[in-house]
Amino acid sequence: MAYLVLARKYRPQRFAEVVGQPHVVRTLQNALRQGRLAHALLFCGIRGVGKTTVARIVAKALNCEGNDPAEPCNRCLSCEEITAGRSLDVIEIDAASNRGIDEVRELRENLKFAPARGRAKIYIIDEAHMLTREAANALLKSLEEPPPHVYFILATTEPHRLPVTILSRCQRYDFRRIPPAVLVEHLQDIARREGVQIEEDALLIMAREAEGSLRDALSLLDQALAYGVRTREELLEAFGLAERELVEKLARAIINRDLAEVLALSEEAYRQGVDLVYLSESLTEFFRHLLAFKVSRKGPAEELSPAEIATLRALSMEVEPEEALLLFQHLLRGTEALKRSAYPHLSFELHLARLCEIGKLASLREILRKLEELYQKTPEGPPAAETVTREPSKPETDTSWEEFLAQARKEKPRFAALLASLSPPEREGEHLVLKVPRGTLLEDRDLQEELSGYFFTRTGKILEIRVEESPGQNLKERLLERPEVKEALAIFGGKVAWVKPRTEE
Ligand SMILES: [Zn+2]
Repeated sequence: MAYLVLARKYRPQRFAEVVGQPHVVRTLQNALRQGRLAHALLFCGIRGVGKTTVARIVAKALNCEGNDPAEPCNRCLSCEEITAGRSLDVIEIDAASNRGIDEVRELRENLKFAPARGRAKIYIIDEAHMLTREAANALLKSLEEPPPHVYFILATTEPHRLPVTILSRCQRYDFRRIPPAVLVEHLQDIARREGVQIEEDALLIMAREAEGSLRDALSLLDQALAYGVRTREELLEAFGLAERELVEKLARAIINRDLAEVLALSEEAYRQGVDLVYLSESLTEFFRHLLAFKVSRKGPAEELSPAEIATLRALSMEVEPEEALLLFQHLLRGTEALKRSAYPHLSFELHLARLCEIGKLASLREILRKLEELYQKTPEGPPAAETVTREPSKPETDTSWEEFLAQARKEKPRFAALLASLSPPEREGEHLVLKVPRGTLLEDRDLQEELSGYFFTRTGKILEIRVEESPGQNLKERLLERPEVKEALAIFGGKVAWVKPRTEE
């Protein structure tokens, strides 16, 4: 017996055998049972999810000589003829290859003839969006008033390309992508019927590769069986698929901005003959999942194995959400560029190197920590330039302002940095008043309190901090003058794009 591809060998012949479309099956069976099936049906969905298969089962059910109106018997002559593809009452038109108006004209001519054997005549029009406008118009006339014995089933992957006039005359059924878990179960069942034991992890990879299409999943299983593949490792090797481990290592190296490691891994993948576009796609997928874990704790759990979930959850702790999003976006773009590149190897490396550079997002906390570190390393504290421009300090406190600053440089370098460019506080009655310009970090109440508290413990005096407008200079210019801003710019190599004053609560 000639080898039959699995998709054909195991094509469902009854509603009960249809995989992953319970909502469609339920609605169709109800309509059939009540004898209220619409005469024009539209089946939408991606390739390989069972549109044509279900259309044939509907045709069989309509003409079956058995007792159940909602399930074909598959034993009567009508069922057998339809299964074998030689029924005169089921006419399949592939609109992709028969786009001409002639076929539709012929179809209209034939409509008036009664069915050859069964009760109904069923026209299955595959890839219906490919019909020419003339053919679609001709079809429309038949759809408007179909004879009672005629049914139309239009199948399409792109319903939006069908004219609204046709859409509005059809009862629409949306076929869904089949979830990986359902695909795995089905693949396992078929492998068992073929007398083959295949690792579940291997089946999961096939299911994920198929992206919800049963036909694609079965065609991968076909190839796996042909190669004698039984384990995940064998599958990855046979198909040249990127190792999950490699993807994880790469992702980790990117998150750590470890360019040397990233390039070493890329080289290894290239040497092993891994398909770089596929690797890049897997990496993109990885960051998409990572992002999902960043957003919700559960993440896309049903698509993944427990080991993958554990890795993703752990890695998601190490990235900020903005960073994960940025990396994901760049990967998406980089993968597209890679597909078009004449030098994929170089293009891939460049793409990875860029990933290590972008998105070095530092939080404000991180910036302050780095500044503090920097000042602790410099014995003199902040550069002396500011102290020169300052007026000679007035002896209004027992501990002079200069001494206080010197102490702060050792103990609280962050405060020292913030205070370095300010004039010393002035006495006002019982208080010392420190005037700070608007738009600096010292506008922050918590920070003010912390500073006053620290000042009090060091000097025994109360320091009042007053935020003032200083005329003549705009906020951005004033900020750019400030040493901590200059330092931050020097350390992080950025520039100040805009200044946003904090709004009062
Ligand atoms: Zn039958």
